[in-house]
Amino acid sequence: MSKYDEVKREVLDSGIWLAEHGYLGELTSGGNISVRLPGEDVVAITPSGRSYFSLEPDDICVIDLDLQPIQGSLAPSIESGVHIGIYKSRTDVNAIVHTHQPYANTLAIINKPIPALFDEITVEIGHEVAIVPYAYSGSAELVSNVIAKLGNACHCYLIQNHGALCFGASMKRAMKNAELLEHVAQIYCQALATGEEINLLPPSAIEYFAEMRKTRFE
Ligand code: 13P
Ligand code: ZN
Repeated sequence: MSKYDEVKREVLDSGIWLAEHGYLGELTSGGNISVRLPGEDVVAITPSGRSYFSLEPDDICVIDLDLQPIQGSLAPSIESGVHIGIYKSRTDVNAIVHTHQPYANTLAIINKPIPALFDEITVEIGHEVAIVPYAYSGSAELVSNVIAKLGNACHCYLIQNHGALCFGASMKRAMKNAELLEHVAQIYCQALATGEEINLLPPSAIEYFAEMRKTRFE
């Protein structure tokens, strides 16, 4: 037993749910998930290159914010630098889900940020899902590219030609944001395919929901 058991279970259960629901590979590995421990500069994160169905909770790595290992015998995700960079830059974020979800990734390969389209997306995710410029998976350049985009205070981003990043104040919220992102990305792809004009939320609604967002800490 260790004080990290509960968060390791939460990280693994989240990875399994995402893989079962098409956000990551089922037979292959892909994506990564982490949670920051309350009140500690410590993060539990998925190991690199493993199918989530092959893992036990004790295979989840526990690392500090200098990427130094605390627990776990497997190598942590190659995107650990991205996760740590986000935790250091955004004190409002305590959980991160990186996926390769199909509709979000469709927009990531045509370089289409998602504008404000629906009330609930604007409240939960923010006024835009911005595009992070491409850099190799696991590279220091990708870490810098992600950090450079975090100032908009939104909870989802698309990494060009790669995947999505979804955040939350809790793992539950980060997972809900991944689902909301896929939902809005699917609708946006369908709308773009019609070639018709797409109506955006009016600026007054974006301001209204931005204020509402400030009261949501779940
Ligand atoms: P890891 O298995 O090392 O987490 O890499 C998967 C991935 O999605 C890289 O971006
Ligand atoms: Zn990835």
